Amino acid sequence: MGERDRSMSRDHWIEGRHYRTGEPVAVRIAGGVVAEIIKPELERPEADLPWLAPGLTDLQINGYRGRDFNTLPFDEEMVRDITRELWAEGVTSYFPTVITNAPEAIREAVATIARACSRYAEVAGCIAGIHVEGPFISPEDGPRGAHDRSFVRPPDWDLFRRWQEAAEGRIKIITVSPEWAEAPDFIEKCADSGVTVSIGHTKATSEQIRDAVRAGARLSTHLGNGAHPVLPRHPNYIWDQLAEDALSACLIADGFHLPPAFIRTALRVKGDKAMLVSDAVSLSGMPPGTYETNIGGKVVKSPEGKLHLAEQPAILAGSAQMLLWGIERLVAGGLCSLPGAWDMASIRPASFMNLPQAGGLAEGAPADLVLFRREGDRLVLEQTYKRGDAML
Ligand SMILES: [Zn+2]
Repeated sequence: MGERDRSMSRDHWIEGRHYRTGEPVAVRIAGGVVAEIIKPELERPEADLPWLAPGLTDLQINGYRGRDFNTLPFDEEMVRDITRELWAEGVTSYFPTVITNAPEAIREAVATIARACSRYAEVAGCIAGIHVEGPFISPEDGPRGAHDRSFVRPPDWDLFRRWQEAAEGRIKIITVSPEWAEAPDFIEKCADSGVTVSIGHTKATSEQIRDAVRAGARLSTHLGNGAHPVLPRHPNYIWDQLAEDALSACLIADGFHLPPAFIRTALRVKGDKAMLVSDAVSLSGMPPGTYETNIGGKVVKSPEGKLHLAEQPAILAGSAQMLLWGIERLVAGGLCSLPGAWDMASIRPASFMNLPQAGGLAEGAPADLVLFRREGDRLVLEQTYKRGDAML
């Protein structure tokens, strides 16, 4: 048995302040699961305790610290390295995201991620599924965002099935635009096969969005982004998705993608169907500068951490900030309480995707936990536990 396997089999305790109540708690970990939560007898002042919260679940991560799932070729070790590095961001479950590309490239990317899951238990434990974003999206400038137009195409079930086969069934989310005539049929087949269909990068009409929901679409990908810079005041596809109760919504709360008024409105309208994603690209964790990427070519990372196309500064090229930052922004902006924002980035996406991590900080749930401190507006991560094992 390795180091980690040994600690898995040992009972141990984690102490912290419960992220919801602020009360000190001691959590007994047994077999990777939260076995018991009690009030501890503290040997240190309560205020010295770090906060204890469920590990973060990110439905959309393209890459991290100079590596990504869209620059081919990559290997199983790279998938493992990203998975490990994400622990430093409190992420214990995530969906690596493969975006619009040539069919063969998408196949290769999802196959490599699947092989990494088969080869490394720690990867399989953290990758809850693959998110394929595109290529069945809008070809139009604006809604297409930074996706490569030459690879955009209408929904194609046979093609998707071949990717799913290469992925050993691990594709769990697909982002698609309902503007294509093929969309309702494709969405229905995906939903029937257990794949969550998300609406995104779209210029769909009200009717097309309604039909997509009827066919089984359940989510909006980064709602409010991947859109035209200018839209008719109404109707438009943002109102349509906001108003559609059957759609949960993912939001990028990095401070650049959405203004506070939009986030506030989306939170009020969507309630517990609102979730945070990072949409982090490989430049997350990298210094400011101009970078050559395969996601839209030349991309600029500003000193404030904003990512945009070099030639079209109005078009964002994904996010360089992680979920912790999004939680901080929601709390600092007065848009959400800390427990509320934390849930939007942890148990809510886990619950949406039917992961056991939906149990959160509770007896019987996987011991995917993080300890952090609050320093002003910042949340400073202290430790990440995956199935009870300290990963940092
Ligand atoms: Zn996108």
